[in-house]
Amino acid sequence: MVDRVETRRPGPAGTRLAGFFRDLLASHPLTAGRTAGADIVAGPWATGPLACRAARSVGDGVLLVGDAAGFYDPFTGEGIGMALRGAELAASVLENALRLGDVGRRALLLYEARRRRAFRDRLRLDRLLQALLTRPHLTDWVAGRLRRDPALADLLARVTGDTADAARVLRPGFVARLILA
Ligand SMILES: Cc1cc2nc3c(=O)[nH]c(=O)nc-3n(C[C@H](O)[C@H](O)[C@H](O)COP(=O)(O)OP(=O)(O)OC[C@H]3O[C@@H](n4cnc5c(N)ncnc54)[C@H](O)[C@@H]3O)c2cc1C
Repeated sequence: MVDRVETRRPGPAGTRLAGFFRDLLASHPLTAGRTAGADIVAGPWATGPLACRAARSVGDGVLLVGDAAGFYDPFTGEGIGMALRGAELAASVLENALRLGDVGRRALLLYEARRRRAFRDRLRLDRLLQALLTRPHLTDWVAGRLRRDPALADLLARVTGDTADAARVLRPGFVARLILA
């Protein structure tokens, strides 16, 4: 089971993690009912934060790919797709740089620009979804609308799975359809 702990809520620091985990399960009727009488046989373990940005992805003789160059929160994004797309962008710039024998920062900056362009909309959407997830009432409202319009839900799932363009969800038309659903 994976759960997201709201950042503004008092976390497990200073309390025992297992107790915190049990309290969290008990605080929601659905999880409380499903886990009544269950024992924790191992763990729980915790990790985080799960999203990371990098201010730069190139330097003299250095080019970062994959998670090292920054990644989405795994709850709302697909890091493997981003890593592979980033590697493609890196390869196209590196091929030229190596051929010309110049792997200095200036020569590699094109990679940074292409990365920014390729992931801009997707990262915007990621930040939007992260902000949404910290507002339970709004999250419930959106979930309710998506339930009424499965095509919208499908599009959002495809975007977060990197098989559809994020710009389609950022358009006013998507928001309007969500409101009217
Ligand atoms: C909890 C969680 C769930 C996720 N779920 C998904 C998902 O469902 N779908 C998805 O697409 N992505 C998911 N991701 C993200 C995805 O795993 C990463 O974005 C992706 O693996 C990044 O690829 P990478 O090659 O940059 O790094 P990695 O896959 O982490 O590869 C880095 C490799 O370098 C090795 N290494 C590290 N240091 C050294 C060293 N000093 N010397 C030699 N080797 C070293 C590591 O052992 C590792 O094998 C998830 C991430 C997390 C944390």
